[in-house]
Amino acid sequence: MHKKLFIPGPVEVRDDVLEKMASPMIGHRTKDASALQRGIAQKLQKLMYTKNTILLSTSSGSGLMEGAVRSCTGKRAAIFSVGAFGDRWYKMAVSNGVPADLISSEQGRPTTPEMVDQALSTGKYDLITITHNETSTGIMNPAEEIAEVMKKYPEVIWCMDAVSSMGGAKIEVDSLGVDICITSTQKCLGLPPGMAMCSFSDKAVAAAAKVPFRGAYLDLLELYNYVIKKDHQYPSTPSLSHMFALDYQLDRILEEGLENRFARHLEMAKVVRAWAKENFELFPEEKYASVTLTTVKNTKGISVSELNKKLGENGYMISNGYGNLKEVTFRIAHMADATMEEIRTLLGLIDRLTV
Ligand SMILES: *Cc1c(COP(=O)(O)O)cnc(C)c1O
Repeated sequence: MHKKLFIPGPVEVRDDVLEKMASPMIGHRTKDASALQRGIAQKLQKLMYTKNTILLSTSSGSGLMEGAVRSCTGKRAAIFSVGAFGDRWYKMAVSNGVPADLISSEQGRPTTPEMVDQALSTGKYDLITITHNETSTGIMNPAEEIAEVMKKYPEVIWCMDAVSSMGGAKIEVDSLGVDICITSTQKCLGLPPGMAMCSFSDKAVAAAAKVPFRGAYLDLLELYNYVIKKDHQYPSTPSLSHMFALDYQLDRILEEGLENRFARHLEMAKVVRAWAKENFELFPEEKYASVTLTTVKNTKGISVSELNKKLGENGYMISNGYGNLKEVTFRIAHMADATMEEIRTLLGLIDRLTV
């Protein structure tokens, strides 16, 4: 039996979107490929509220995270971490020989504008990374407040991991001033895993041009140059199957209306949070609770793996806690094309299975 996914990626993908993955192939150096990739970029610019160039990468989101920190750090990177995905970015910097410092928040707490200001005031850094939505702890960082601080440091490149929030929450890339905003297919966009995309500012282009060793496959300047000079083509063969599905799904998303889509995510989040507070507790501070997934503190000490087994028998799946939060927390994703009705059914099922 297929289990409906309420895990924070991969998410449930609609049948019509899945079918687009089976479209007949086209040549990747053809005008048709350029047109497909150009169309996707234009739609992503709307979703991301940006005029910056869009880069696509046949990799999961981690690929562009690694490419960003390696391609654009000239001096030293300040990696702000609120959990597993911030820590991953630090590991990527270190293993690529990129000088970096890890600036961590206590688990369940956000990256504050004060932390960013304090680090950048030292003058040591020319790039920062921020996790917009931390999928382990269920924290959504205060991007607008961080943007206010970033105005003081116009020379610093701002990279943002919006992998588990872009498409589910409004992220106005240009008005925030984010230089490289990264997302991928299998979270709020509601597609199978395997493709990542980012916005890439002129400032990021200039920074990358000064970095001598940017790698090859994930050299973001190389991707940028192809997009600009070769009409949205890519240096290596991309996953055209993902592109057919992404192009189609972006049309659906724009048809739903971005404001409607964000409102639907918020409504689902409110229902899950209310349920969590009634039955358990929220893990993150509510002020910073994510709108795309909820991390629930397992105050009743239920066996999460046992619950998930029983949910599976009923055709549903949620996520256990991540890393050291396993069994101590569990996570319910309310992202992409999930509906309120499905969320209510899921919560009702958990109620019945945990009495
Ligand atoms: C899913 C996710 C990623 C990317 O992980 P992949 O394993 O590369 O798909 C990065 N950051 C966050 C916050 C995520 O949720």
